[in-house]
Order: sequence, then structure tokens, then C-alpha cells
Amino acid sequence: MQGYHDLTGRVALVTGASSGIGAHMSKAYSRSGARVGLLARRSARLEELKADIIAAGGQAEVVVADVRQEADIIRAFDTVEAAFGPVDTVLANAGIIGPSDRSTDVDIDDFDDVLAVNLRGVFLTCREAARRLIANGSKQKQSGRIVIISSVDGKKTYLGYTPYAASKAGVSHMGRMLAREWAGQGINVNTVLPGFVQTGMSGDFYETPGGRTVVSSWPRKRVLDTSDLEAMILMLSSDEAASITGAEITVDNAQSLS
Ligand code: NAP
Repeated sequence: MQGYHDLTGRVALVTGASSGIGAHMSKAYSRSGARVGLLARRSARLEELKADIIAAGGQAEVVVADVRQEADIIRAFDTVEAAFGPVDTVLANAGIIGPSDRSTDVDIDDFDDVLAVNLRGVFLTCREAARRLIANGSKQKQSGRIVIISSVDGKKTYLGYTPYAASKAGVSHMGRMLAREWAGQGINVNTVLPGFVQTGMSGDFYETPGGRTVVSSWPRKRVLDTSDLEAMILMLSSDEAASITGAEITVDNAQSLS
């Protein structure tokens, strides 16, 4: 086992595993001892990630699925369970940023798409996880761990991206609601709010003049790397987080203190 926290014996499902935070965390889960289900729509990227994990001595299973679809989520849990046993650890990470338009210009279909992935998708993922955890005795085992990736954008105001910010505010509160509901079932639900991370979602924004201005306004003048999120997500996914549930934890290296 390498890494900060021991996840040996855990079976994890990571949504949005094909890039960015999800791809990084899938490898981190594996390095920490978990067997990992890799869920997203881009199969080639998932197969590549699976090969990397296996080459490093880990175990992974690919599930090509769309988090908006109930049947896909059920199939994802079935597939991972058939390979490794019941899922006890979930990283509900899949998300899209949607339109940057001012709200008066937002196309309502784009609004619906953002909520379908960032809210409905997370709900379907968490609901299926909890149904199975409860059926498998999580109340006795106290081992269920769900980590939801929200964003500091759900707490701030700024211009553009209202559907995204609203979805992230919603998913943060969803995390608290689920934590309350499942507190007596041995399932811990926590929400991580990353600041700005360099991923496919941010693209080349930080190379632009506007992006450089944003970065220079932060106290530490640094965009996060996906590895900056690793310690917190691993801890919340581990046995060590037994008393932590319903938390909303910002990981942004002081970006939102500016
Ligand atoms: P990313 O590289 O674009 O990753 C997004 C992931 O979500 C991809 O793996 C994508 O896979 C998956 N996804 C999107 N729609 C999906 C769907 N319908 N079904 C299944 N998977 C879907 O961006 P990222 O930055 O790592 O984003 C991960 C999470 O972090 C998101 O929830 C995002 O809101 C959050 N976040 C990011 C930042 C940032 O600055 N980057 C900051 C705060 C929070 P496929 O396209 O292959 O399906």
C-alpha cells in the first residue's frame, strides 16, 4: 500500500474516471489498496487508465456509462460487484461546466444538461450506492463512504456559469441531506469543494490573459493540480473518516480567500 490512507479491501466506484480529477483519483485509490470501477462515457480513455492501473499492480474494471441514465448506474454497480464484490466507496465526481453565457442568454436545454449530469447523475449514483450498502449490512459494518465533488463555485457569485454554480450549490446540500438520512446506516457522505484545478474542464483558460489575471489575484497565485485533492478525498474514503459525515470541505489552496 502506498499513499496517505489505507483503502485495502475497499471496492470503489469513480464516476467521471476518464479524465481530470476522476482519472487521478482512480489511480490514487488503487495505489492505496482499493479495487476500482472506472465509469465514464469515453471507453478508450477508461481502457487506457485500466491498463495503467494493472501495470502498476492494481485492479480495475471499466464501465462505459452515462450517469444521467438510471439503467447505466445500476449496470455499473452490477459490473463492479461481479468483478470485485459490493461497492463500499464511491467518488461521485462526473460533472460538466455548461454554458458561460450570462443568464439572459442561457439556452434552457443547456441548463437541463448541466443539472442532469451534476445533480441527477450524482443522485442516481448515491442512491444506488446506498441501496446496495444498506442491503449488504452497512449499518453493522459502518464502512460506507461516499465523497461528492462539488465546487467553490457553489458558494461564490460571479458572472456567467449560473447553471453550473447552481448545480454545485445544489449538490453540496444534497450531500448534507444524504448524510443525515444515512447516518444511522453506516454510510458517511461528505462533499469536497475544489477551487480551480487544471483539467480538461479548465482547458487552456489559465494561459489566456484573463486566466492569468485571475491567478494573480489569488494569495498563492497557483492553479490546483489534481494531486492537490488526493489527501482529502482518500481520507474521506477511508476508515479514518468514521466520525466525519455531512462535511463540506474546501480544498483550494487559499484561492477563495482573495
Ligand atoms: P473533466 O476532466 O472534464 O472530467 C469530467 C469527467 O466527467 C470526465 O471523466 C467525463 O467523462 C465525466 N462525465 C461528464 N459527463 C458525464 C456523463 N453524462 N456520464 C458519465 N461521465 C460523465 O473535469 P474535472 O475538472 O476533472 O471535473 C471533475 C469534477 O470536478 C466535476 O464535477 C467538476 O465540476 C468538479 N470541479 C472541477 C474544478 C476545476 O477547476 N476543474 C473545480 C471544482 C470542481 P466522459 O466525457 O468520458 O463521459
